[in-house]
Amino acid sequence: MTYVAKGWLIKKREHGKIIFLDMRTIDQPWIPLQVVIKKQEVDEITWENAKKLRQEASFIAEGELIQNPRAPGGRELRGKQIIIVHNPEEPWPLGKKSHPPEVLMKYRHLSVRGQKFIKIWIVREKLIHYLREWFEKNHWHEVSPPIFVMTACEGGATLFRVKWFEEKIPVYLTQSAQLYLEALCFALGRVWCLAPSFRAEKSRTRRHLAEYWHLEAEAAFFNFEDNLRVQEELVIYAIKKLLNDDVTGELIKEIRGNVDDLDEIKAPLPRVTYTEAMEILQRKNFKIKWGDDLGADEEKALSEEIGTAFFLTHFPTEIKSFYVKLDPNDPRVCLAADLIVPHVGEIIGGSERETDVNELIKRIKAQGFDPTNYEWYLDLRRFGSVPHSGFGLGIDRFLMYILKLEHIRDTLPFPRLARVKYFI
Ligand code: ATP
Ligand code: MN
Repeated sequence: MTYVAKGWLIKKREHGKIIFLDMRTIDQPWIPLQVVIKKQEVDEITWENAKKLRQEASFIAEGELIQNPRAPGGRELRGKQIIIVHNPEEPWPLGKKSHPPEVLMKYRHLSVRGQKFIKIWIVREKLIHYLREWFEKNHWHEVSPPIFVMTACEGGATLFRVKWFEEKIPVYLTQSAQLYLEALCFALGRVWCLAPSFRAEKSRTRRHLAEYWHLEAEAAFFNFEDNLRVQEELVIYAIKKLLNDDVTGELIKEIRGNVDDLDEIKAPLPRVTYTEAMEILQRKNFKIKWGDDLGADEEKALSEEIGTAFFLTHFPTEIKSFYVKLDPNDPRVCLAADLIVPHVGEIIGGSERETDVNELIKRIKAQGFDPTNYEWYLDLRRFGSVPHSGFGLGIDRFLMYILKLEHIRDTLPFPRLARVKYFI
């Protein structure tokens, strides 16, 4: 079969009268195409072109596509013609070796072409595809929330302030679309969105970005337990689809190694209350007392103990945001749950939402915000309010878990971290 491959040179090997070109093609960029050029089978220009190609040269190769079980992807191109589109004058700044993260960040615009990164981008794309597919199949409505907002919902410390024309009133980059989704779920029933959220996270950890991709969902007539069921179904659906997908199934194995724990994940996921978690942690000699927030170390110890993804539920009311509903059976705790996974920790925060206006006003104030900015939000409790629940899933953290990546920066082509030095 004659085939025309368009792409870039990953690497070239010359063996006398044969040249092997490993090509990244626009058709299957995640599998290098081996192009074989034999001197006696091609004209002189093609032979000279093949010899001339430098790393990351762009070119078009035409020839016969044949089966070869030993070549990557089980096929190779017996090249008949090579046309150079652009042969770089300078050597590829990243050379052939692997590089430390600082170098990969500085040259991010080029390192995004690296073979490992390409595989990550493909899995990321498919992950989003399958998540969206789950919502479509289950008749949720996808909506588009704003990015510029005037209401905080996750604590003032991580707000990014924006200068809004000549206005004095502070405007922020959104931390979460939740408040808007709450308004929209009373219009449409079940809604979800995928949009960036922003957190001024000064602490540099392996799982915090300043800008991340937030999948949020909100549903009317949904209680705490309905909410957990949707989360586990959605997350497990995406994992199973990715593992069974011809392309991503292989890529995940290649990047992550063993996938047994992903394969075995099934609903219902264990539910562990905050109070139970405290007992586990105290037994493990953590210096922690009831009422403290849990950090990465605590989440890691818990997921090692439980051995699978699990829901951590019923947190003390004080450590969660104002909108979380109090547990009617024990108002010291609230109807919030985080989904905790091994290797990463929290990937979802969710809750049933408070519907009592006065309770909301009290807690908005307690968190240091001005309730007058939240009038529109409070109106949602004044006009046809119903029990409702929702959650926010960090796509980047979810991908970090699926691929067992060491650092969240590698889940995104252009990650935004605390240090502006790494922006390109
Ligand atoms: P953490 O305690 O880990 O900082 P959080 O409790 O502040 O997270 P939420 O406000 O509950 O996070 O946000 C919902 C989800 O968004 C989290 O479960 C996580 O997956 C993701 N997320 C939150 N902050 C970040 C961040 N800075 N970078 C990447 N993902 C994040
Ligand atoms: Mn959270």
